[in-house]
Amino acid sequence: MELRILGAHNMESRDTRFEAHLVDGILALDAGGLTRSLSFEEQHKIRAIVLTHRHFDHIRDLMPFGLTMRDSGVTVDVYGIEDTLDFVTDKLMDGSLYPPFLEFPSREKPIYALHEVEPLEEFQVLDYKVKAVPVPHAVPAVGYMVSTNDVSVFYTGDAGKGVSEAWQHAEPDILLTEVTFGNDGEQTAIESGHLTPAYLEEALFEFKRQKGYLPRVIAGHMNPPYEQEVRAEVKHIAKKLGIEIMMAEADMRLSLP
Ligand SMILES: [Zn+2]
Ligand SMILES: [Zn+2]
Repeated sequence: MELRILGAHNMESRDTRFEAHLVDGILALDAGGLTRSLSFEEQHKIRAIVLTHRHFDHIRDLMPFGLTMRDSGVTVDVYGIEDTLDFVTDKLMDGSLYPPFLEFPSREKPIYALHEVEPLEEFQVLDYKVKAVPVPHAVPAVGYMVSTNDVSVFYTGDAGKGVSEAWQHAEPDILLTEVTFGNDGEQTAIESGHLTPAYLEEALFEFKRQKGYLPRVIAGHMNPPYEQEVRAEVKHIAKKLGIEIMMAEADMRLSLP
């Protein structure tokens, strides 16, 4: 499996992109900084997208990507929980911002086909086994276990303190997660349902306790004003746990396992 990090921040600028990741060039995990990270040729290869939740930094590029795919004749499958798909349908794709991609260019062959997923029920997407696992966040949200015969990744999406509740349903080789704020931003992290390095440490400690091993950890979704602090604090907890925690970088490519 090739995992390509496309965006690793929760604010955008010339130097930072909203979160999105790409598995083997064909399956997108969220659609934040999707189009601005890829050539048109690369975009045309995407066949499916799983959405963790409705927040704009995770769904925004469904709109420009829809335009990219306009004349492709391809329908891209989009998966998400009911809450996410309701917002995508009603707010983003009702036809008021761009063409109504759920029935355009035709009802028979639209740009997007939405598929509602049930938490904890495994389903097939392309060649991957996928399972949505609820995670704590400011709005209803799930992470996704994405598995092949060789490797499994658990992408938590945005998740806050208490994310370790998800561990009972996920046994990944790779944990792709978030550390949005520094330990100083604890209060904001609690209110907005995000992790700090201290909460990540707690969650990893609990992972090890439950399962007896730690996965390879990649952390992103950094809030730029906190980035330096987050990096320093994550380094510190990695040392304490005796593991390497990789900070996600836009355009990073990882060959897994
Ligand atoms: Zn969010
Ligand atoms: Zn986010």
